[in-house]
Amino acid sequence: MQVVNTVLDLKEWIRSTKQSGQSIGLVPTMGFLHEGHLALVEAAKAETDVVAMSIFVNPAQFGPNEDFDRYPRDFERDSMLAEKAGVDLIFAPSVEEMYPNETQITMGAGSLANVLCGKSRPGHFDGVLKVVTKLFHLLQPDAAYFGQKDAQQMAIIESLVRDFNFPLQIRRVETVREQDGLAKSSRNVYLSEAERIEAPKLYEALQRGVKDAREGQDPILEMIRLIESETSGTLDYIELLSYPDLQQEPNAQAILALAVQFQKARLIDNIIFNLKEN
Ligand code: AMP
Repeated sequence: MQVVNTVLDLKEWIRSTKQSGQSIGLVPTMGFLHEGHLALVEAAKAETDVVAMSIFVNPAQFGPNEDFDRYPRDFERDSMLAEKAGVDLIFAPSVEEMYPNETQITMGAGSLANVLCGKSRPGHFDGVLKVVTKLFHLLQPDAAYFGQKDAQQMAIIESLVRDFNFPLQIRRVETVREQDGLAKSSRNVYLSEAERIEAPKLYEALQRGVKDAREGQDPILEMIRLIESETSGTLDYIELLSYPDLQQEPNAQAILALAVQFQKARLIDNIIFNLKEN
């Protein structure tokens, strides 16, 4: 496995990989790897000749009062895990390498960012679009792999690629969970012991909500009751929308999603499902 930190070295690796005719799978991450990230690597390995992983905590997608500074980082552990999983290249640039100059050009996801995390984190998806566009141009992947855990991000990136003819495929990978149902996340390390015990209630509430929605009932009130009575977290949102277009009043393919703020970690989770299937 090769590790490159500069755009210049990356370009050299991309040039020789392309020259040898190998297809490239890209797994973009912010590091502090867990089995969710490794599932993306596994999916990439199954479909492409070489797998490139980016590890970059992207300041552009964090708001001023968010956790950019204390986002967990451990490059040594990450590179060990990545190598073991069969990653061929890690691209781990510094912030200066990634954003050497201020740009006046901005990107926005429009109404796709007016709901769910986009509503609670203004500017977040502008930052995601910025970094992902740069990564796609720098790494020139044939396919890029994203987790359903960040379903709004996945929908926005699918729209970016489709609407602007980026020459790559976006692949969806299902959410990897702990045995008790909690979605794996780099931020789970910031849960207190008591919060960690409560956290699986988020997925339980989502499962209950999916059942209610399929039976034609509004799932939201009961989910609010469950989260408020069984966790110490503060509910940020629960929304039922169509997927992937994120419109109100879905009638077939839907997403039920929530965000809950615990003391030091904001957790998100969702289920994508068909309202008409049981
Ligand atoms: P992050 O490092 O949190 O930005 O995540 C990098 C990629 O891994 C994104 O495409 C995420 O959706 C994906 N990912 C994060 N957690 C999980 C999980 N539990 N299961 C599957 N994919 C995940």
